[in-house]
Amino acid sequence: MDIDESSPVGKNALSAARDIAPIWHAISAAAARRQTRVLLAFKECRVSTEHFAPSTGYGYGDRGREVLEAVWSKVFGAEAALVRPQIVSGTHAIALCLWATAHPGTTVVSATGEPYETVKSILGIAGQENGLSQAGVKYVQVNLTPDNKPDLRLLEEAITRETSVVLIQRSGGYSPRKALPLGEIGRIVEKAKNRNPRAVCIVDNCYGEFVNDMEPNAVGADLVAGSLIKNPGGALVPTGGYVAGRADLVRRVAERLIAPGCADVGPSPMGFRHVFQGLFTAPHTVGEALKGAVFGARLFELLGLEVRPRFDEERSDIIQAIKLGSKEKLLKFVREVQRFSPVDSHVTPEPWQMPGYQHEVVMAAGTFVQGSSIELSADAPVISPYEVYLQGGISAAHVVAALLRAALTLFA
Ligand SMILES: *Cc1c(COP(=O)(O)O)cnc(C)c1O
Repeated sequence: MDIDESSPVGKNALSAARDIAPIWHAISAAAARRQTRVLLAFKECRVSTEHFAPSTGYGYGDRGREVLEAVWSKVFGAEAALVRPQIVSGTHAIALCLWATAHPGTTVVSATGEPYETVKSILGIAGQENGLSQAGVKYVQVNLTPDNKPDLRLLEEAITRETSVVLIQRSGGYSPRKALPLGEIGRIVEKAKNRNPRAVCIVDNCYGEFVNDMEPNAVGADLVAGSLIKNPGGALVPTGGYVAGRADLVRRVAERLIAPGCADVGPSPMGFRHVFQGLFTAPHTVGEALKGAVFGARLFELLGLEVRPRFDEERSDIIQAIKLGSKEKLLKFVREVQRFSPVDSHVTPEPWQMPGYQHEVVMAAGTFVQGSSIELSADAPVISPYEVYLQGGISAAHVVAALLRAALTLFA
């Protein structure tokens, strides 16, 4: 791109590129490790072209589905997995986990403060009608400590014999806290199990897949849920969600998705080729997204903005927050990212009241798959401090170029 190297953006972009070089190197090495883990699961399960054939009707005996779910469980270190186009979103996957395990008269404890907006609707704490709390499931929220960490002491007090579920959100979402490292998820699970061994630990894993060498199953989570149009779909999967975890619980989730006693079905009218391929490419794609996020963190920090996490901090999700400080700057940033997208580059994002969200949000989503946020996307609640959440990127080169554009419009 033609940028004057002596301009503020040009100079800082060069410094940023130098500063992040060792981190990009580490991300490449980590992607290679995770790629090997995925490859070994494909080999062990003897994935073959015949598993890509579509199935119709009930989908009885769909070998592609069986092999895909076997590969998925190996990659996640889980006993079983449910990976389906019939799970339409991450929210749906999390809802299925909660419906399968939280019964009337029991309590769901959120260990990580306020959950993601759409998860609040599932819990029935966002003012709508069909949530769990309207069905008699109690909700207890363990708020974060003053320095925005999970409060393990309060968590211990909150968990009782009545606790059916401990809900753990790995990503920070639209909140001021950091994404949870796996070690911290492990400590929450351990505390929860000490207090009540029957409490089911559910991890909302959205945006976290392949950012670390393991998934939350490896540190004791009972059920882990997410979306196929985020990290684990590698930007190739057109729709779907997954749940991975303990076999008895995954079975219960499948019966919630379909019907009790009738869960051995699930057609794949499009086949699962793109899901296998997306999972296979996911470690690489997530690496590209992380490289883009790290570049953005360093560039905008050098330009004087507050960023979260900083470029050299440990990460457990792909989200990069950048505090823009005014509505005008926020809209400029988001619109520039949209303008530099491969799809709908001519469209101007406007703030709108998105269903399931409490504030107006503005989003740049010039993506091949509608709403995919493993492709480069940026979104923000339109409220002070006007922080934008940037995530995704099929190629780091695209993210770098789009961020340079955005920086030029803000700091010209
Ligand atoms: C995206 C996301 C969800 C919801 O997933 P959808 O696929 O958008 O329904 C839930 N939790 C977190 C932390 C997320 O980032």
